[in-house]
Amino acid sequence: MDLGIKGRTAIVCAASKGLGKACAFALAREGVNLVINARTENELNKTADEIRAQTGVTVTAIAGDVTTEKGQDRLIAACPNADILVNNAGGPPPGDLRTTDREAWLKAIEANMLTPILLTRALIGGMADRKFGRVVNITSAAVKAAGAYAMLGLSVGARSGLTGAAAVLARQVAAQNVTINNLLPGRFETARMRDNLVFSASKAGVPVEQEEARLQKEIPARRFGDPAEFGAACAFLCSAQAGYITGQNIVIDGGAFPGLL
Ligand code: NAP
Repeated sequence: MDLGIKGRTAIVCAASKGLGKACAFALAREGVNLVINARTENELNKTADEIRAQTGVTVTAIAGDVTTEKGQDRLIAACPNADILVNNAGGPPPGDLRTTDREAWLKAIEANMLTPILLTRALIGGMADRKFGRVVNITSAAVKAAGAYAMLGLSVGARSGLTGAAAVLARQVAAQNVTINNLLPGRFETARMRDNLVFSASKAGVPVEQEEARLQKEIPARRFGDPAEFGAACAFLCSAQAGYITGQNIVIDGGAFPGLL
């Protein structure tokens, strides 16, 4: 299926590794030119080279912390007329909300709520004028299944704020063919997921392999997700064909969320 976005431009935040990288790759395979970001410059440049070599699209690498005003300004300056924005940043550290301090809350809100809202705000006016825009926020399955992720309270709290703002904004620009959707990953095989696994194994006092087997058993697909599967879903949401899908929260978790809707 041709997604109808060849030649468009995308900003993909936090994209040197993991889910962000997979989204960048999937868009590049559709012929989308990219501005990608991450803090560690050499890792980012390696990813940019890899994407260029495998897809032939133009890739501009902007190293910096996307959760800072400076980082956001540099991204917007590099691509003020982006057609596509994939919002992403590292997730907050796991921990018990009963002992979480104000500083940790402010950091989580800054990274996982305010940053995507501000980047979206900066770009959707132009998208609306040009009658095409796609915004995808990488959030978390924990937003929907909060009770199953007791140690990810900061993530759930901050991302819920983003989810609310995205729901409002999506309706304000839908008539101009600008869509805003959230993709909610369950457990995907990335560095971040491995870190969380080590944390939960040590908390439970069991070997990592045992914790891994326990978690995979809880997933109906009986495995962790492949980031490429996530990237493909992101690319579809950014497609010309997905113009009638907006304001949605799409869980990709191998069937783990047990509810009906
Ligand atoms: P990952 O494999 O650790 O990759 C994170 C990427 O983001 C790296 O490229 C990292 O590069 C970049 N990054 C982190 N903080 C950044 C910042 N402040 N500014 C710019 N770039 C930044 O993580 P992931 O698993 O792909 O997770 C991506 C997001 O999805 C996170 O918010 C995570 O909480 C969420 N999520 C993941 C899963 C999962 O199973 N993987 C499940 C639910 C939610 P640098 O470190 O060099 O900046």
